[in-house]
Amino acid sequence: MEQQLHQAEQHIGSHSKGNVVQAARSEIHQGHLVLINRENPIQQVISTGSLLPLSSFPAIHTLSDNMLLERTCLQHLNDLLEACEGVHDIIAVSGYRSRLEQEMIYQSSLVENGAEYTACYVALPNQSEHQTGLAIDVGKRNKDDKDVNFIAPSFPDSGVYLTFKQLAARYGFIQRYKEGKEAITHISCEPWHFRYVGYPHAAIMERNDWCLEEYIDQLRSFPYEEDHLVFEDEHACVSIYYVPAAGEGTTTNTTDIPVVPCDHYTVSGNNSDGFIVTAYRDKGSQANV
Ligand SMILES: [Zn+2]
Repeated sequence: MEQQLHQAEQHIGSHSKGNVVQAARSEIHQGHLVLINRENPIQQVISTGSLLPLSSFPAIHTLSDNMLLERTCLQHLNDLLEACEGVHDIIAVSGYRSRLEQEMIYQSSLVENGAEYTACYVALPNQSEHQTGLAIDVGKRNKDDKDVNFIAPSFPDSGVYLTFKQLAARYGFIQRYKEGKEAITHISCEPWHFRYVGYPHAAIMERNDWCLEEYIDQLRSFPYEEDHLVFEDEHACVSIYYVPAAGEGTTTNTTDIPVVPCDHYTVSGNNSDGFIVTAYRDKGSQANV
């Protein structure tokens, strides 16, 4: 039988023999692959049950108390900090923000830094990924942790910081705003802002030099009915495909999402027009077909 858990605000299941899961149209606004930008603002506030305090991992240094992140994102951030041995040198500067906090940050940056700078580095309220709990700003720790630039923390291209960047994709993180992508993202290069999208999505984006806008768009050319985007590593073979949400004008508000035979899968909305299925077949597994 199909198992479904509603976890981390997306469908997660195991052992699909070729199932169909159903999702309401509103669920396109949930999941680890939601695209948040000027054209695709926040539509749904993350439930507080999906957020975890960074203090759950006491080794992580934080610029302020009570910082929160989406729980899967935080678990992987902790794993990444351990893997790059950066936990003593890297500080978490800013994680989840409510709409009100984003508004206050935007307004105070306008006063302190001016309109031009703010437009480059601070997203308008409801256009910030920080409101999803899936974005984390990291910085170089100073002797005095207070002396960190909150809007644009220093994150060098050397040492543990470089290792963090190099390992990020393996743990599901992308540097969200890269140099050369400003015309698409409308945000200047931010070496400190990492977004959790999950593995292998982060690895695929890095390999192809796609920002999230480009990746979400590319995935539309891999519908269920045609060839899927296939990613393979030493552990698994992963099929990724796109299922458009049932249209606004149609009689049903529910989308039937076909899931190919696999060992486990996730479904995420893209915050625009559909769903992305990620189906994993573990290597050496007999559990399919
Ligand atoms: Zn940020």
